[in-house]
Amino acid sequence: MSVVEYKKELIPTLKKYFGYDSFRPQQEEIISSVLEQKDGLVIMPTGGGKSICFQLPSLLFPKTTLVVSPLIALMKDQVDGCNANGIAAAYFNSSQSAEEQQAIITKITKAELKLIYVAPESMPALDNIINETYISCIAIDEAHCISSWGHDFRPSYQQLGFLKKTLPNTPIIALTATADKATRQDIVEQLGIPQAKHFITSFDRQNISLTVRPADGRVEQILSFIAKRPKSSGIIYCLSRKTTEQLVTKLKAKSLKAEAYHAGLSFDERSKVQEDFIFDITKIVCATVAFGMGIDKSNVRWVIHYNMPKNIEGYYQEIGRAGRDGLTSSALLFHSYADVIQLRKFTEGATNQEVQIAKLERMKQFSEATTCRRKILLSYFGELLAENCGNCDVCKNPPQVFDGTIIAQKALSTVARIRETEAIGIVIDILRGAKNATILEKGLDKVKTYNIGHDISWKDWQHYVIQLINQGILEISFQNNNALKLTEFSKNVLFNGAKVSLTRPIEIVEKIGNPKTKTTKARKSGGLYERLRQLRHKISLEENIPAYLVFNDATLQEIEAERPQSDNEFLEISGVGQRKLEVYGDLFMNEIKAFNDEKKSKKADTHKVTYELYQQGLSIDEIAEKRGLKSPTIFSHIAKLYTEGKPINIYDFVSKSEVEAIKKAKIELDSPPALKPYFDHFEEQLDYFKIRLGLAVVEKNE
Ligand code: ADP
Ligand code: ZN
Repeated sequence: MSVVEYKKELIPTLKKYFGYDSFRPQQEEIISSVLEQKDGLVIMPTGGGKSICFQLPSLLFPKTTLVVSPLIALMKDQVDGCNANGIAAAYFNSSQSAEEQQAIITKITKAELKLIYVAPESMPALDNIINETYISCIAIDEAHCISSWGHDFRPSYQQLGFLKKTLPNTPIIALTATADKATRQDIVEQLGIPQAKHFITSFDRQNISLTVRPADGRVEQILSFIAKRPKSSGIIYCLSRKTTEQLVTKLKAKSLKAEAYHAGLSFDERSKVQEDFIFDITKIVCATVAFGMGIDKSNVRWVIHYNMPKNIEGYYQEIGRAGRDGLTSSALLFHSYADVIQLRKFTEGATNQEVQIAKLERMKQFSEATTCRRKILLSYFGELLAENCGNCDVCKNPPQVFDGTIIAQKALSTVARIRETEAIGIVIDILRGAKNATILEKGLDKVKTYNIGHDISWKDWQHYVIQLINQGILEISFQNNNALKLTEFSKNVLFNGAKVSLTRPIEIVEKIGNPKTKTTKARKSGGLYERLRQLRHKISLEENIPAYLVFNDATLQEIEAERPQSDNEFLEISGVGQRKLEVYGDLFMNEIKAFNDEKKSKKADTHKVTYELYQQGLSIDEIAEKRGLKSPTIFSHIAKLYTEGKPINIYDFVSKSEVEAIKKAKIELDSPPALKPYFDHFEEQLDYFKIRLGLAVVEKNE
């Protein structure tokens, strides 16, 4: 196919196989470049839509596209996703029998497979196939694994340089979500594609709201957070195995479907947790950082960091597992000084300790920020955001600044009087006049500043002292039991009249949703959405693929909103391609039809009930009260019953002259379909229910 010819094919192919109408930023450029046989390096955030960048070209190439991928779980998910879309794809690995492997090889030689996924370790077994007779294109997924500069180095990736040597005319596209400059350079050098065009898309994930809160009462905060999102899936990252298990126990005690995931579990146990999560059987996974790497689940709605991550790269990668479908999602980070101290300890003895501490420091600054958090995050990755994001806690609740000089002086003089010997907790206890054992045993109740800060709560003091540390007015001596120390600036505040600005603690008002992105509406149980979800779940179990591979949440929501009734209408839905229409179309449309019919028959029933009560001689208000409905609803039933020819004494409710007036208005207004024009016409003097009843009479006599 010539360049011009395939250009015409891009959108139709996107719609036919993936069900989408348009490309996301950069996808089209990347795909065009691949189809022009050029090498490329793609840096796109998680959920940005990397897969389509090589899956779509594979459909237009004559031979097979080789996809190198590090993890079996990841490959399986992608292959299932392709097959669900009607794309011939398979993976090749050592767990397969010799016959299975041979069958795959045969398919490749006959050009019957569009995509073959393989881990570097298994490539030698495909020696006879990996050449230009059979391969049209090569995609290296998770390409950062090739570089020891990256954060997830895999030695097996380092042999991939042979690909360009063996297939010099075959385009190579390397893809990753995280790679700094050094890593990018390393990737293209090692793959032997120095001319590769770099495609770097924004790291911004606007659909994920960012929130940081103090860690006090974490468990309660988590429970109330989850209670607001009862049906959604989420991950809670913890620092230790023990925490994951304790948290799971607490969540299970509240009847939540939660499981722990950590390195202490066997391989099989971990696979089970992962699988149940992907299949929506487990809603919540409490995990150490290892979890999530091999997961493509698109409907993770939230990520919580129970403990602070050790650097911003890790944090960003972990929150990136939320909202891959582009719908509103939340990231909640708990920040505590104890965590910072713990993480600092972990760096001890590391060869690059200074780097690690510097990274931890940036993470801490992010947690304590009083300016837009997304700006800080993106600037860390070298991207500048022109405006505040509007979807982080700071943007939603900007901190209020006030003159905190006296507060600062109280804290500083306490630290001075105890000769810089105590950590933050004890200093606050002194300020607040606490009478606990430590204070009394150490005689700290004799300190001159004891109790001078009793009017400020413990939590608020903590908030202020942390700000003093961040402003360099106090310091933590990590070598010295984390005691608070004075700094150069302290003297200015204590003796030279320097002013200190502080911000007030933020009252937490949780707002769900973001004006910039589509929201996931709260949905009634028993509603259509729930039924569609159940249907999807059933299909997912029958076909043994995750529910989001049947349809992701965004697609399911669109089906609910549009309620398609024909193949063409169903195909209009974003995320529905040819194969999914064929396989799932009728199932979903039948469900919608059944739902609509039930609603209709329920309506018929409701009229019947009203009629029976009417026949018993009850007044409209009495019927309304008995049925727990509003009177206007009962009036509309009466109008309907009357129209159907039931013996209703309609003139009990509307007078003959009113009916006459309505009849005239109808002609004058040219039979408007709504009631409002009548209401306006009568200058709001005639009630809606009378208009409705009057129209029923007029229309019956027409
Ligand atoms: P990545 O591999 O970059 O993490 P994926 O390729 O898994 O991301 O894509 C994430 C989600 O976005 C998937 O559900 C995918 O179907 C969807 N997606 C990709 N491209 C588009 C597009 N052009 N329009 C709508 N959705 C898309
Ligand atoms: Zn912001």
